[in-house]
Amino acid sequence: MLDEKAFAAEFYSRQVAMRELGWKGQRKLGKAKVAVVGVGGLGTVSSLYLALAGVGYLRLIDQDTVETPNLHRQILYTRDDLHYPKVEVATERLMKLNPLLEAEAVSENVNAGNVERLLSGVDVVVDGLDNMVTRYVVNRACVKLGVPYVFGAAIGLEGNLSVFSPPETGCLECLLPNVSDGDLLTCDTRGVLGATPGIIGAMQAMEAIKVLAGVGSPLKGKLMVCDFNDMTFATIDISKAANCQACRGVSAAVGGGERLVWLCGLETANINPEKPLKLNLDQVYEAVQKRFPVRLKSHLAVIFDYKGLEVSLFNGGRMLIKNIKDEDTALRAYREILKTLKLDR
Ligand SMILES: [Zn+2]
Repeated sequence: MLDEKAFAAEFYSRQVAMRELGWKGQRKLGKAKVAVVGVGGLGTVSSLYLALAGVGYLRLIDQDTVETPNLHRQILYTRDDLHYPKVEVATERLMKLNPLLEAEAVSENVNAGNVERLLSGVDVVVDGLDNMVTRYVVNRACVKLGVPYVFGAAIGLEGNLSVFSPPETGCLECLLPNVSDGDLLTCDTRGVLGATPGIIGAMQAMEAIKVLAGVGSPLKGKLMVCDFNDMTFATIDISKAANCQACRGVSAAVGGGERLVWLCGLETANINPEKPLKLNLDQVYEAVQKRFPVRLKSHLAVIFDYKGLEVSLFNGGRMLIKNIKDEDTALRAYREILKTLKLDR
């Protein structure tokens, strides 16, 4: 324990030297709990700086596994990590980078039905998402739970940043109501330079640290718009919308049943079980191994091939299917696999 104290004193020495922070602020960070939702281009960077800054507990939430097109910007992953659940790789790496950190890996698909459970007990939520549907779900939960939401978005050579903290400020829906993902560019269609989420993700970590440690003036009630093409940075005041559903406490509708969710432009489908399955991953692995070629087994999932598809079966019964062309094929494969493994009863 003494060793750990001495290590912390040295580890944070350059940081606590700042009079804005000092040991008083450092202790606040040490007691803080942060959820990072989405551990891709933004989330790998924000979680890295939050971990290194000494945030005591990080909950990393992401449904996806590591793919080669992620590697140019998602800085916690290497080629050795391909096909592994992102949160599993990320938590291990972060705890290695800062042994004082406690990091929890949550490999779930965030939706209206589970969002409040996934975000409960944290002091700040950091947005590392790539779609508006999930952002709205997270935003409504943050409003309801009274947790500040550090919003970030990055694509191409542009990025946005804000801190929503209702009722003190407006929320995401006050600023951007009813944005459909179909109208937005994605990393697939527009492309993205790694430095873009790198900068925005680092700024999100900065804002979260300021909120938690009580340093400086966080970007509350303001939106920062960054254009890296010509290096124009504008900060505009944003206000509350009088008729905002989210601020009035209307929760996101809870959808039930089997639902397919498509990821950022890739040929990937996520299928949530109708009710969470209690799976013993070791037993599932035995069953899978007898029937399908297994790529790997990690702590959180078994990844195997099924009729040319890459399938990740997670311990809650969630399935991620890659190389998929349409929802029907995904649903059929999902049901066939559960039936073959006798998990459908
Ligand atoms: Zn609002």
